[in-house]
Amino acid sequence: MTTVVKNDRIQINRLALGPFGTNSYILICQKTKESVVVDAPGETGMVVEELRKTQPQYILMTHDHFDHIGGLVELKTALQVPVASHLADAYDLPLEPDILCNDGDEISMGDVKLRVLHTPGHTPGSLCFLTDKYLIAGDTLFPGGPGKTQSPDDFRQLVESITEKLFELPEGTQVYPGHGEATTIKEAKQQYEIFSARPYDPKLHGDVEWLRS
Ligand SMILES: [Zn+2]
Ligand SMILES: [Zn+2]
Repeated sequence: MTTVVKNDRIQINRLALGPFGTNSYILICQKTKESVVVDAPGETGMVVEELRKTQPQYILMTHDHFDHIGGLVELKTALQVPVASHLADAYDLPLEPDILCNDGDEISMGDVKLRVLHTPGHTPGSLCFLTDKYLIAGDTLFPGGPGKTQSPDDFRQLVESITEKLFELPEGTQVYPGHGEATTIKEAKQQYEIFSARPYDPKLHGDVEWLRS
């Protein structure tokens, strides 16, 4: 477990879990100790242990890929709190979500409010969750590039989500992805600028790195 943010308002802990070391994030309101968990890759016992001194409110799903949902049934059973996802990614979850989120929705956790951003491309129902200058990004945006895409159309859609929604955020916004370390909107913008200034293959998709593609 790594604490990636800690101030008087909020604490954010990152746990790399399951066979692929997928990041799950626990967000805690410092004042009320209410918490939410983002994604459920597995190793549920460890997540429950981390939540012990908090009051869990929701399980938020960034998207429906198997490495993010392997522990969902177990986690829901342990916590007995509502599961939230986007409708477009709801069908592949191992359970029916209690709440369907859409772009612009707000989720409260004590004194902390999270804004939902719908950022399709990696999957049709991919969501990011924003509070203050912290963005939990799922597999939408990583240091060095966007998440993996299945087709050129998906890639174009993902770039649109990133440039129209994420690049609208303040440059100092910290981006916490579904795998690995954090980046910032400023860094992503600088790299994307270099990428977008060059012509690229219209069939481009898959694992794309801004500076190498
Ligand atoms: Zn994914
Ligand atoms: Zn993933």
